Order: sequence, then C-alpha cells, then structure tokens
Amino acid sequence: MLDFTGDIEAILPEVVALRHDLHAHPELAYCEERTSGKVLEQLRSLAGLEIQDGLAGGTGIVATLNGDKPGPCVLLRADMDALPIEEDSALPYKSQHAGKMHACGHDGHTSMLIGAARVLTRCADRLPGKVKFCFQPAEEDGAGGERMVADGVLENPRVDAAFALHGWPDIPVGAIATRPGPMLAATAPFDITITARGGHAAYPHRTPDAIVAAAQFITNIQAIRARFVDPFDPVVISICMVEAGYTYNVLPQRCALKGTVRALRPEVHARARALVGEFLRATAASFEVEAELAYGTCYPALTNDAACAALVADVGRELLGAERVSMDYPPGLGGEDFAYFAERVPAAMFQLGLKRPSAADVAGLHNPRFDFNDAALPHGIGMLCGIAQRYLEHAGAVAPTR
Ligand SMILES: [Zn+2]
Ligand SMILES: [Zn+2]
Repeated sequence: MLDFTGDIEAILPEVVALRHDLHAHPELAYCEERTSGKVLEQLRSLAGLEIQDGLAGGTGIVATLNGDKPGPCVLLRADMDALPIEEDSALPYKSQHAGKMHACGHDGHTSMLIGAARVLTRCADRLPGKVKFCFQPAEEDGAGGERMVADGVLENPRVDAAFALHGWPDIPVGAIATRPGPMLAATAPFDITITARGGHAAYPHRTPDAIVAAAQFITNIQAIRARFVDPFDPVVISICMVEAGYTYNVLPQRCALKGTVRALRPEVHARARALVGEFLRATAASFEVEAELAYGTCYPALTNDAACAALVADVGRELLGAERVSMDYPPGLGGEDFAYFAERVPAAMFQLGLKRPSAADVAGLHNPRFDFNDAALPHGIGMLCGIAQRYLEHAGAVAPTR
C-alpha cells in the first residue's frame, strides 16, 4: 500500500481547522448551503477532479478522480448534515447556530473525506481506476442518500463498490470495527393521532378517553417484540413523544405520539410495522376512539458486503495493527442511509474509534456535549485512502458476494 502518512500529516492542521469551522456552522438536512460551499471550494482547489454539484435537492456533491491507469471505480461517502440540538459546551468552535449542532460527527466525516481527496489527488498517477468522493445531505432525516443515488452518483462512471465510515465514541481512537452482513437497522418513524370527543374528568363514562387509549396502546405494543417476533431477530419499537391535554380536569380530544420501528431483517421490519397498525386499530376500537397512523421515510437496513468488509479489515490491520481491528462488532438498531448505496453496489461501512484514552466523560452520539475527536481524523483519512487504493488494485479479487 502507498504510504500516505507524510501527506496526511502535512494537511492535518487544515483538516482540523475545517472540522472546527464546520462544527461552528452546523446546518440541518437539505440546508447544508454553507457546508456544501466549503466542500466545493476545497474540491475546486484540487487538480484533476471532475465535480458535479447541486445534487439531491441542491447541496449534494460528487467529485471524480480519474487515476492515470484504467481500472474500476470506488466511491467514498461522507454526510454533511447536523442535528436540531442545542449544543452544551465551552468549545472555542461551539455551534454559532442556536438549536443546531454537529452531534453525530458529520463535521468529522466531511473533513476526513476532504482530507482523503487532497491526499489521493496527489497520487493519481499511481491509481489504477477512479475514485468518487461523495458528499451527501440529509443523512439524519430525509434520506439524502436515496436522492444522491436517484441523481445518478452510482453511474457515469459506474461505481463498482462503495465505502463509508462513522465516528464511534465506544471504540478507542486508532481502532476500527466492522462486520460482514447486517450491521444497522431498517427504520420507520411514525406519527399517531388518537382523537376522542373530550369532556369533564369527573364523568369519564360519557366520553372516550384518548390518553387511556394511548397508554394502553403503548403497553400493548411491547408484546410485539415479546410475543410476535423470534427472540433471535432484533426488533425495537420505541415511543419517543407523547403529547396531550391541558389541565387537571379536562379529558382532552387528542393525544399525539411519535415513535420508531426498527429491525435488522426486512421481513421482520415489515411484520412489526404492520403489527403496530393492527394493535392501534384494535386498541382504538376497544376504547371507542379514532386513531390514525402515518409512517415517514423508512431507511433500509444496512448490510455490508462480506468481501468489502474483509477489505476494510485488511486495510485496518495494515494501517492500525491487527489488535485494533474488530471484524465481529455487534450490529445495532441505529439507522444509516448509506444503506441506499449498499442496496445497489457491494459496500461496507465501518466504525472509526473516537474514545479518548482517559475519557470518563465521553458524550455519545446525539448528545448536546458530543464533539468529534480530532485525534481520530488522521486514522479516518488514512483508512479512506487505503481502502480506495486497495480496492482499485485488488478489485478483481473482491468479487461481489450478493
Ligand atoms: Zn446521527
Ligand atoms: Zn451520523
């Protein structure tokens, strides 16, 4: 493998500065105008890239590097969006946008992919094939990955394999983890509205009660996981918002719920989604209330191609050491719209360690105190460069396994 260490060290201060700048200016899904502008500015300063911007509703970008020798095409993907969370920190580069922050580390992902583009454009003469650097909007909400794919980022030239990483606070800096097969969940956010006539709290027999119906429904659906799905098939149904009522003595006319259904296997996900509807209908009927259920955008499950995951692990063992690579990290029920890429081409995602050696206070993803660990940036850039190079050189050996 090419030695990227010197090139990465040379650009690292600028990558860190970019990361801090993006952290200070977080933008939500499909509003990543400033972020996308920064990415474009950086990409345009590099020689040899064919850049397409304005994708996925406006902020998506893909830049293609044509290596000097013919060969396959590998795509590296980063996400750019932030979350609607008020940052709780004293960092000098704390979010300047009230109610928004990079609490999932996409500032780190974007900066590392810029770093990889800077390093790989310098060695295009030694790359047998093409590398696409893909910057997508709206990973957290709105399926930006799906729109990037719909806008053709996997075509012209056709992508043979795709790779992505996610910073992971549970894994030490300098380590990575991945796994072949199912890695992250299919997700389905839902809104439920239960309506009743409403009335006096002292006369509950004269009006159906939306709150009691909602409470019963929330309790009843726990049985879906416990009694309708194989205990060895992961599934989770969480109600994350309950909103109803005005005061002490009024039975309200409405109770609203928000929640999510998640599972690793598509069949289990479909069954659990359908059961939520059936339980809602049955509970509403028994309490004589009306109920409506609407599902939002469902992300597919992320399934890693076995050969692509093995390639990630090989590169990790070479760059980080065998003891710092886990190939059987447990799957989780988080969602990830890199799944839209992985549905269409052989792909693998890996977790990049962010845990500080001494940190007792590591804030998790989506926490108001989360901050991407800059010490992980060179490892992430090295992994992205190594994966791209290794894939292009060994593509013949990486036969798609599904
Ligand atoms: Zn997230
Ligand atoms: Zn994320």
